[in-house]
Amino acid sequence: MARRKKIYEGKAKTLYEGPEPGTIVQYFKDDATAFNAEKRATIEGKGVLNNLLSEYFMTGLGAIGVPTHFLKRLNMREQLVRSCEIIPLEVIVRNYAAGSLSKRLGIEEGTALPRPIVEYCYKDDALGDPLVTEEHIAAFGWASQQDMDDILSLALRVNDFMSGVMFGVGIRLVDFKIEIGRIYDGDFQRLVVADEISPDSCRLWDIETKQKLDKDVFRRDLGSLTDAYSEVARRLGVMPKGATPKPTLIN
Ligand code: UDP
Repeated sequence: MARRKKIYEGKAKTLYEGPEPGTIVQYFKDDATAFNAEKRATIEGKGVLNNLLSEYFMTGLGAIGVPTHFLKRLNMREQLVRSCEIIPLEVIVRNYAAGSLSKRLGIEEGTALPRPIVEYCYKDDALGDPLVTEEHIAAFGWASQQDMDDILSLALRVNDFMSGVMFGVGIRLVDFKIEIGRIYDGDFQRLVVADEISPDSCRLWDIETKQKLDKDVFRRDLGSLTDAYSEVARRLGVMPKGATPKPTLIN
């Protein structure tokens, strides 16, 4: 098979030119990074789990009419997506206080927020993805007012969908990050949910035990990241085929 042309290599994914114009192949790596890539590791099986989980969430969003860039999964590590222009913002939705919000405002992690809070960070690794306001976004032309209205509505729809799906399997969606892409159809443009939705970009806590089932397990050295992501996949019924639970020692 001819080697595909690499378009971009990120921290957790590599993008290749797709088989048809306007398509891209997203390859999910096993690499994990945190704290703006100061902490790194390779975690066996993470890419496979994120590929399957992102497929599951993007397909579900598509089914309820939320547009995404997802076309189809190609194999255990790759999916075909529509090529789009990524808006340089990380769109964060929070239902409970955690992470940078808790630090910034001194609110204890796990405190329920009075309503979902949407935040925007400017995507720039060198600057550490700083928090920005809609004033910055408008002034610097990163997105128009119409885009911002559409982004807010997309973010809240993703939040309702993801919160419901997770609630159904006993998991609390604390917060998450999405990225939004622009797709041009002739003279028109539309916005779609792009990149990935996976435990790398969400905070997921078991409702009963409060156990963390997301990338905080890696960020905070709380145990095996593969076990945490496998638990999410298992509850949602999307465990990779052939993956069986590890044998348990019987005394
Ligand atoms: N997040 C992400 N990528 C980033 C920053 C944040 O996916 O570059 C996700 C993170 O996993 C969490 C949510 O966005 O689910 C909110 O993250 P927060 O602002 O609390 O930042 P952190 O504490 O991770 O630095």
